[in-house]
Amino acid sequence: MTEQTIALVTGANKGIGYEIAAGLGALGWSVGVGARDQERREGAVAKLRAAGVDAFAVPLDVTDDASVAEAARLIEERAGRLDVLVNNAGTTGNAPQMPTAVDVSTVRAAVETNVIGVIRVTNAMLPLVRRSSSPRIVNMSSSVGSLTLQTTPGVEVGPISVAYSPSKTFLNAVTVQYAKELADTDILINAGCPGYCATDLNGFRGVRTPAQGAAIAIRLASLPDGGPTGRFFDDEGEVPW
Ligand code: NAP
Repeated sequence: MTEQTIALVTGANKGIGYEIAAGLGALGWSVGVGARDQERREGAVAKLRAAGVDAFAVPLDVTDDASVAEAARLIEERAGRLDVLVNNAGTTGNAPQMPTAVDVSTVRAAVETNVIGVIRVTNAMLPLVRRSSSPRIVNMSSSVGSLTLQTTPGVEVGPISVAYSPSKTFLNAVTVQYAKELADTDILINAGCPGYCATDLNGFRGVRTPAQGAAIAIRLASLPDGGPTGRFFDDEGEVPW
């Protein structure tokens, strides 16, 4: 009998993260619901379990060292390893984000969650991920972080933002650096763009459903051995950095 795959999704209490957890659960995987708010976390776990998902709660604030260390300890105790890590938790920071008007705390908040949070969680989980026979890491990025798309005339990449978009550019660069260091391991680490989805993040203005946005993460989380690493994908294929 093959072992059940163990996954952790950060920011899984709502939006795209919740749908990623539901999708990985539908594959028969055991899914850790990483979320910082107890009520929202327990609510999501209950809803996922009611839908037949083997979900478990993982208290997790990606900006907090102690919280992240405790999450790793919880997974170690429960499963002894982690097969799939989906770094989904993210924030836009606050408005305004015009470069000349921004409060620097807005930039700091976006980078703290979207970049440093990913590094913090990834490094805390890596000892567990290294014990997996098919380890996968997915970083939820955005096409707004693509400098190629941002500088291609006529390409629609959303409003000017000096916090959110550059934080995803930074995350993309971080993804590449991890892939380079981990090139001689089995760990596949890629960035995914969910497309413009209707979630809290954008006041539900997105045109895709959170479930549609989750599809790319589910695909990258279940890549076959020897699959791509250090690359950036959406549903259509490869996204230029
Ligand atoms: P969302 O509905 O606002 O969900 C964001 C999730 O991240 C929530 O669960 C939130 O938890 C969690 N989170 C934020 N800060 C956290 C922290 N410090 N620790 C732990 N969890 C934290 O947004 P979404 O649209 O689903 O976004 C999911 C990912 O997709 C993000 O990385 C986002 O940048 C990316 N993305 C989204 C879109 C889009 O159109 N929606 C497009 C491109 C990329 P709380 O409930 O506690 O706040």
